[in-house]
Amino acid sequence: MTVLWDAWRRAGIADIAERVVAGERIDDASAQRLLACGETSPVGALADLVSRRKNGLRGSFLVNRYLNYSNICLLSCRFCAFYRREGQPGSFLYSVEEMADQAFESWRSGAVEVHCVGGLHPKLPFSYYRDLVSAIKERCPGMMIKAFTAVEIRHMARRIARRPIPEVLEDLAGSGLDSLTGGGAEIFDAEVRDEICRGKETAEEWLEVHRIWHRLGKKSTATMLFGHVETPAHRVDHLRRLRELQDETGGFCGFVPFAFEPANTKLSHLRRASAMDTLRTVAVSRIYLDNIDHITSYWISSGLSLGQIALSFGADDLHGTIEEERIFHMAGSKTPVGQTANALAAAIRESGREPVARDTYYRIHPVIGPPQETVGVGA
Ligand code: SF4
Repeated sequence: MTVLWDAWRRAGIADIAERVVAGERIDDASAQRLLACGETSPVGALADLVSRRKNGLRGSFLVNRYLNYSNICLLSCRFCAFYRREGQPGSFLYSVEEMADQAFESWRSGAVEVHCVGGLHPKLPFSYYRDLVSAIKERCPGMMIKAFTAVEIRHMARRIARRPIPEVLEDLAGSGLDSLTGGGAEIFDAEVRDEICRGKETAEEWLEVHRIWHRLGKKSTATMLFGHVETPAHRVDHLRRLRELQDETGGFCGFVPFAFEPANTKLSHLRRASAMDTLRTVAVSRIYLDNIDHITSYWISSGLSLGQIALSFGADDLHGTIEEERIFHMAGSKTPVGQTANALAAAIRESGREPVARDTYYRIHPVIGPPQETVGVGA
């Protein structure tokens, strides 16, 4: 510990480290100082200490499948390379049966979760979303369904079904939806949203959807898209709003910060967040969000090598196998579109953690569905 204290003193963060080591919550000003710290390693060491206290040496990953039902969208967020208008080349829409078939293939090869999002389609009826969830649940017994951002939920409720959000969420939960996704949060600050995703739901509206979902006894994850036009103060403001809602509901099971991928977007002139910035953001998220159990290192955004390093900077989870990621890759991401379970387990082990396969709620997952060949954590 003496070496660590020396490092924290040299980096000018010993006063913050004292509070963190004592198990106290840090304030916004301290979080901003950590984000601005010129030395990343001492911030990472502090976050690693918090992470080990919460989760020991466990490093989790998920055998999952990403499925996008459609990229047709009413909005045109400036950071997004995924959306298309109806009829535009490259637009797609899968039927419920096609989606269920794809989910079934993954379930057969051992996926424990399907993760499903799309654009804000102007015409799909609410029954499509409900049928999508129930069809996957029926074809893939035991597989957890994590689907729809808060933005999609509000779109379904306000523009499509014209029904109150609680009713829409109850319907989807009744059809078998296990978790909302954390997407659509971006950065909560109103001015930043106006610049990068004008017309999208406000922070309050995003948070309200998750609040209602949590009150139904359900879990979700939260995300933050950083590294575009926001300032460090905006990142901390984002974390503060999540921490406040988590104090209220306790419904977030994990937090996933990921860096903006500028290529092919209307913000392509921006530089991608550096590795150090990414690591500091993961670390500060771990330290600040003392009421969220798990911090996920999103290898799809960072690449597996940096994602692996983040496991020593506060993250305790390496997300999932994914199989086929589209949203980041349409924005020019050079990372693979998927990983094998064994590759994730090996990366976790190499980082000094013990690989553990988990489910959507970050629980060590029970064996479900057909015999699984891919989730062995020792290979
Ligand atoms: S981020 Fe989502 S809501 Fe915005 S344009 Fe892309 S698909 Fe549409």
